[in-house]
Amino acid sequence: MDNFIKNLPKLPNFIGMGYCNNPLSRHLIKRGEIEIKAAYNDTKAKTYLLSEGKVLLKQTANGRDPLFTMAEASQFQMAPYQEVLLGYLGDEPRFAMEVLQDLDNCSDNIINESLRALAMKHMVEPEHVGALALANSLLSWHKSHKFCAKCGNQSQIMDGGYRRMCTSCGAEHFPRTDPVVIMLIIKDDHCLLGSGHNFDPTMYSALAGFMEPGETIEDAVRRETLEEAGIAVGDVHYLTSQPWPMPHTLMIGCIGVATNYDINIDEEELRDCKWFSRNEIKRMHEDQHHDELKVPPSFAIASQLIQYWLINE
Ligand SMILES: [Zn+2]
Repeated sequence: MDNFIKNLPKLPNFIGMGYCNNPLSRHLIKRGEIEIKAAYNDTKAKTYLLSEGKVLLKQTANGRDPLFTMAEASQFQMAPYQEVLLGYLGDEPRFAMEVLQDLDNCSDNIINESLRALAMKHMVEPEHVGALALANSLLSWHKSHKFCAKCGNQSQIMDGGYRRMCTSCGAEHFPRTDPVVIMLIIKDDHCLLGSGHNFDPTMYSALAGFMEPGETIEDAVRRETLEEAGIAVGDVHYLTSQPWPMPHTLMIGCIGVATNYDINIDEEELRDCKWFSRNEIKRMHEDQHHDELKVPPSFAIASQLIQYWLINE
C-alpha cells in the first residue's frame, strides 16, 4: 500500500489559486434551531456581509476587514431569513448575511467590492476568500430557491442554511453545486486555448463547459472539446478543482490529449481558438508576448493548468 501511494504522481501546490483555502470547519456545526440561535448570540460570532455578490469591507487602520460583529451587522437592513452559519474558526461562529440597503448610502468607512476583484487584487487576507466563496454560493442559492420545486409553496431555511424544507409538502432541498469541466488540451509540444466573445480579445484560456447529467468527467471533457473546437480527445487526467462562486460552480481541472490538430470552431461559443507552442505560452504567462496575448492570472484554475504543463516538459 505504501508503494502504491509513493508511486502516485506528485501534484504541485497550486499556489495563488483563488477561493480554495477555507479555514472554517463545517463539520462542527450543530444544526438544530437552538444551536443555531446560540451560535448567533455567541459574543465571538462574526459575519460576512454581502449584497448581490458584492462584499462589504470595513476600512480599518490595518487594512480592509470583511468581518463584522453582530452588533455592527445589526445596523444594516438585511434580507429576511437569509443568515447562514458557514462554520467555525476554532470556537468562533462565522455567519454570512445578505444586505438589502443601497450600498452607496453606507457610512464612509464601509466600501464594497465584487468577489472576483477582491480575490484577484488580494484585497483581504487569503483565509477570507474561501469563506466568502462559500458565503456567496449559499446566499445566492437561498435567494433563488425560496419556493419548493416540487409543489411551489414557500420553503424555509434549515440547518443554518445548508438545507431548505418545504412548509407545505415537507420536501427537502439542498444547496446546489454546478460542475464545470475545464481542460488544457495538449498535443506534442502545443496546447489548445480559446478566446470567448466576452473575453478581452488578447486573453486566451483553457476550454470549459458545464457537465451534463449522466456524464463522466472524462466524457464531458471530450464532448466539450469536440463541440467547441472540433478536436477529438483521447486520454483525460484529472488534476485539481476550484470552487467558482459566481454563483455556485465547481471547476474540475483536467489535462486532455488531442488526437487531431485541425480546429473547427463553434463560433457561437468562441471568438477564436488556436494551438500555441510551449514558448509562446511561456511568453504569454510572463506578459512578454509580441502581440500582447495573455493567459489568465494565477487565481484562476486555467492558469494553474497552464503553469503545471509549463513546468512539466
Ligand atoms: Zn413542497
